[in-house]
Amino acid sequence: MDSYIFAPPVYSSVPVVATPALFPVRRILCVGRNYAAHRREMGGDDRDPPFFFAKPADAVVGPGDAVPYPSRTADLHHEVELVVALNRAGEDIAPDEALDLVFGYAVGVDLTRRDLQAAAKAKGQPWEAAKGFDCSAPMSAIRPWTGASPTGSISLTVNGETRQSAKVEDMIWSVAEVIAEASKLWRLAPGDLIFTGTPEGVGPLVRGDHVVGEVEGVGALDFVIA
Ligand code: MN
Repeated sequence: MDSYIFAPPVYSSVPVVATPALFPVRRILCVGRNYAAHRREMGGDDRDPPFFFAKPADAVVGPGDAVPYPSRTADLHHEVELVVALNRAGEDIAPDEALDLVFGYAVGVDLTRRDLQAAAKAKGQPWEAAKGFDCSAPMSAIRPWTGASPTGSISLTVNGETRQSAKVEDMIWSVAEVIAEASKLWRLAPGDLIFTGTPEGVGPLVRGDHVVGEVEGVGALDFVIA
């Protein structure tokens, strides 16, 4: 058995609905601009396809845990998203085989330092500080799921006021296409999470805000910005 110069960090994990066993998180991929109306609100060109970025696995915040307002931003934004959790490996797979990799689905919020993202875009710099910061990926428990991917409403409220309200089926890349596209760029493996993009209505959060995100049939997450 290998020895280490210090104890390796414990895996990040997410609870699973109706079982005490945890889902260990290997990596987090995220899709940008996967809903046309959100692409427009961000000033995107309608011909640009969606794309990927990543967050570190330890950005996950479990259900019910408070999310600290991050440092070095004055414009923290919410982005509610359907999250796909994989428990099978796959590389260069076809869309019609992609759903075989799926363990289940959750609701997540891709928290974003929008001011730092805008500055990075303007300078052609990477997005890690805007997207991959500590506690930037609050999630619900994962609901085990087989067969066709979820459809129906995806929504987010802040202090009871609706900010985002759309349909999951309005995604530009479907869940199967997202997995297939990701598998052309990375070897997918058990423990991978994919945030599939946010619909329109993203906006700012302040300390004390109570955020509730929901995807029909999948579940809800609920957290306070501390
Ligand atoms: Mn997003």
